[in-house]
Amino acid sequence: MSTLLDGKAVGAAHERQLSQRVATLKTRNGGQIPILATILVGDDPASATYVQMKGNACRRVGMDSVVIKLPASATTGDVLHEIDRLNVDRTVHGILLQHPVPAHVDERQCFDRISLGKDVDGVTSHGFGLMALGEPAFAPATPAGIMRLLVHYEIDVSGMRAVVVGRSPILGKPMALMLSNANATVTLCHSKTLNLEMEIRRAQIVVAAVGKPKFIRHDGIRDGAIVVDAGYHPGRVGDVDPEGLMGRCAAMTPVPGGVGPMTISTLISQTVSAAERACAVV
Ligand code: NAP
Repeated sequence: MSTLLDGKAVGAAHERQLSQRVATLKTRNGGQIPILATILVGDDPASATYVQMKGNACRRVGMDSVVIKLPASATTGDVLHEIDRLNVDRTVHGILLQHPVPAHVDERQCFDRISLGKDVDGVTSHGFGLMALGEPAFAPATPAGIMRLLVHYEIDVSGMRAVVVGRSPILGKPMALMLSNANATVTLCHSKTLNLEMEIRRAQIVVAAVGKPKFIRHDGIRDGAIVVDAGYHPGRVGDVDPEGLMGRCAAMTPVPGGVGPMTISTLISQTVSAAERACAVV
């Protein structure tokens, strides 16, 4: 019997709580509501869809969102200029630079320009460092959402052997740190890992963050494992081939409806927290 880790339902319940927090903030702030500002560079259709989904989620909880669209030809300086403007805009509480940006834009420099208090996706080096040390910080929304999903289903990773496949700064790397901070024993795998199959087969919890459809074979995962699939590809396919896993694993995320909704509700939650802090200091 496998548990389906239903991120859609957990995210929706979380949004109901967020609506109440937003309503309280609105009353305290003379009608002003939290705003998430997203910078979208270029015209990648998947990124545009993600930005739209985040904006819809903001509106569902009574918040607002603004999208700053820059052309694919925008320079690092152009993006920095927008971030500087948003950093000082007191009506904006969270800033999200949609990843990935075109290759000629220095993404790290842009991420690090975001004010720590508005870094609601945990992308700055400062925020990342605090998260890694287990200090209070806004964490990268996808791995933080995954941790919240595991907590919701009372899955205690302490002492478990975890394997994370993928080490991007927004997903795989912080995921490994969060699991380690929760006392799992973590192996972080990547494209140069030798004998990836063996690493996956040993894992009690597998987090797939590779970005390749059905890359992880279901028969390479041991019975009773917990499987978290962060991937999402056209055709409603994730990074794991789920065929035959249900019933054999202990728990797994569906694709879609697993990790994605948890990412969005975590991002919105961190923006509400940023707004609550801003409201407390004025
Ligand atoms: P990414 O930046 O492209 O990173 C992919 C990682 O996978 C890299 O670390 C890479 O290793 C590793 N990798 C590539 N080929 C591999 C191989 N053959 N064996 C082992 N590792 C390999 O991707 P990302 O931004 O982290 O995203 C990963 C997936 O998560 C994508 O499907 C994306 O759509 C999804 N995602 C979902 C959400 C959500 O909210 N649901 C949010 C973000 C991302 P190297 O470091 O060695 O290159």
